[in-house]
Amino acid sequence: MLFDAIKGQDRPIEMLENYLSQSRLEGGYLFSGPEGIGKKLTALTLAKAVNCEEGFAKPCAGCPSCRKIDKNQHPDVHLIEQKDSGIKIEEIRLLQHKINLMPYEARIKVFIIDNAHQLTAEAANALLKVLEEPPKDSLIILISDKPALLFKTILSRCKVLKFAPLERERLKDIFREELGLEENTAHFLAYFSEGRLGCGLRLKEDDTLRGKNSIIDDFMLSPKPGFNTLPSQERAQIRRYMNILATWLRDIYMLKTGLPYSQTINFDRKAELSKLTERFSIPELNRMIDAISESLFCLERNINVKLIIHNLKAQLCSN
Ligand SMILES: [Zn+2]
Repeated sequence: MLFDAIKGQDRPIEMLENYLSQSRLEGGYLFSGPEGIGKKLTALTLAKAVNCEEGFAKPCAGCPSCRKIDKNQHPDVHLIEQKDSGIKIEEIRLLQHKINLMPYEARIKVFIIDNAHQLTAEAANALLKVLEEPPKDSLIILISDKPALLFKTILSRCKVLKFAPLERERLKDIFREELGLEENTAHFLAYFSEGRLGCGLRLKEDDTLRGKNSIIDDFMLSPKPGFNTLPSQERAQIRRYMNILATWLRDIYMLKTGLPYSQTINFDRKAELSKLTERFSIPELNRMIDAISESLFCLERNINVKLIIHNLKAQLCSN
């Protein structure tokens, strides 16, 4: 099977292989699905597959073309990424210009637009013109984890390939068998990432298992709970901190409602979870989980960080 490095996305990969085998790959595509499950990796692998010097449809990763794509240095493979502000018309005008040129060295020019839901209205209109009549030697791949925010006109011009998270137990097996991770780490990464392989790998890099345990120790088990281990007041770190607290409370809640231990996220702390099911009532847990959700909501809306933490402490520590 092609695309061996992309795990658990059999359906979209099979569709791409069919398109490739019938040379029906042209125009616009949308790769949709949650963040961290291999959409961009698939798009880049596809760019390699159509341009590999070792043969069409068989990305080798070793030829000059594949290596240039890996280094983001291929003159005919373009990655448009815009994280926070929208994707502006200037970017799409540049795409319009490049897509109509002869390729420098590729068989097929590839344009990958990540977070395509961030196209501004003007940029989307300009892109629509390209999608209506794409040059034959080009591919446009849109990537989005929020396809509902895409302009309908754009959607109607793209073939949609849906990517889905893996079953958590399957991802756990991949982490154990292919990365050699021990049981507790594999379990936590698979469950905390909700079956998203790329997301789980990032968490592994960050040593999230150890980090989450010091957060839990700090907040839930010390006599004076607080955000003592929070190294800064950066929103991303606070978000992570709160998400971990939420998983802890959610585990206690779910155990109380009959969930087996094997389905908890913090499986490595089974004994403590068990004790805490007796300490908290369902209404208390509901209130605490709501407080964290509300804080996360405020965090996204640029409300003062100190105020958010102060309010959350007051609500979580009133037990
Ligand atoms: Zn190659």
